Amino acid sequence: MKIIPISLINFNKTAQRTNFRNNQNEYPQPGHSGLDVLTKDTCCFTGKIPSLTTPTMEDLIKKTKASDIVRSNILRLARYKIPCPCCGHIMLDLDRYNKFEQRVMSTTNPKTLLKFISELGQYLHPVEAKVLDMMKSVLHNNPDMTLQDILRSKLKHSEKKLIMQQSKTFVALGILSRKLPNNIAEEVKALINETYDRIFDQRETSRFSRKIFISKLEKILDRVKDEAIKSEFIAEAVKLPTAYNSPDAFIVKYAKRNYKGANPDQKIALRMLSNSLATIEHIRPQKLKGGNSPDNLALECACDNNRRNHSSIIEQILQNPAMMINYQRYMDRLSELHLQGVLEKAYITQTNKSYKDESGGLLKSDLPILKFCGNSTKGRKIKSGITPSLQERREHHKAKLKNKKTQKNKPKR
Ligand SMILES: [Zn+2]
Repeated sequence: MKIIPISLINFNKTAQRTNFRNNQNEYPQPGHSGLDVLTKDTCCFTGKIPSLTTPTMEDLIKKTKASDIVRSNILRLARYKIPCPCCGHIMLDLDRYNKFEQRVMSTTNPKTLLKFISELGQYLHPVEAKVLDMMKSVLHNNPDMTLQDILRSKLKHSEKKLIMQQSKTFVALGILSRKLPNNIAEEVKALINETYDRIFDQRETSRFSRKIFISKLEKILDRVKDEAIKSEFIAEAVKLPTAYNSPDAFIVKYAKRNYKGANPDQKIALRMLSNSLATIEHIRPQKLKGGNSPDNLALECACDNNRRNHSSIIEQILQNPAMMINYQRYMDRLSELHLQGVLEKAYITQTNKSYKDESGGLLKSDLPILKFCGNSTKGRKIKSGITPSLQERREHHKAKLKNKKTQKNKPKR
């Protein structure tokens, strides 16, 4: 199905009604989420694949902007358990997160909060999963503790381990500073010393911010002309552990945090899953003039989206080499959704092209699942919306090769 450019969507009243009538099996009645309709089996293999640009009845009533319709339709795809193209973890859809938030805000009981988090355990990122296990085991032995108490009980131990990890990076930066002109090297050393003072300060108010440290370092390095040396520094500085990749950094950050009147346990519970939330990612960032057309919009977990900020895809790959593999998993899942009648093929091929162009060819998929099944629903090896496994695809390929060989070796008459 062809993706209609947003500018061509006709929003006059007659067109809206006709559009809805034509798609009434695929789009929701008011008060229903579109997702429930999309998951109906009747949607599979009927050829009625919903367009990402088609408004729902709710959109029509609210007169939602065309670009917002595309965004919300792409976000809805997360309901189908899609792995993040960057980190590969299954993303949590907004509906499930909103329900989780409502439940969290209805209680302050630590045991109940941990139960709510555990119910969405499959969406937790590795750090959060480790922290959850730790909190469960401490609470089991100390049922009167709050979640923040638990983090505080581990603070000293985690702080020690964190300083050991951070020190490795500071020492490496100190050694690298020998390559710099004397005056700039002194500034780098002063920044490292100031940071040591901060992290060794025992007061609770004393906090080290990795983000501020890196931005101060970048400011000092602005005066360095050699781009290769600058890159070496930044590549080393980004190794500083964060709450995204180190359970110790997570514990230190959220044990010390000032929750400004909010309930700390509810905030900690929400933070455990907020990183897994599916968000809209601009393949070419808006700061680099990336647009809001569907071919520039993809899904990405909130954690990677925040960390990427406005950097290019190539910079993101350099910081996340596993993205080369995870991207293929993302495209495979989208292809499966096309076979299940959920997603138009044009969106998949167009986003694949955008990723390829933006990454200079580093990220590209041959879309093997789409190739295997061809364009037509006729003659597919797949029945009832079940997508073939990798093993099945391999066996099919082997059988095909074997068949070819047999044909070749047949004696000619
Ligand atoms: Zn991710």
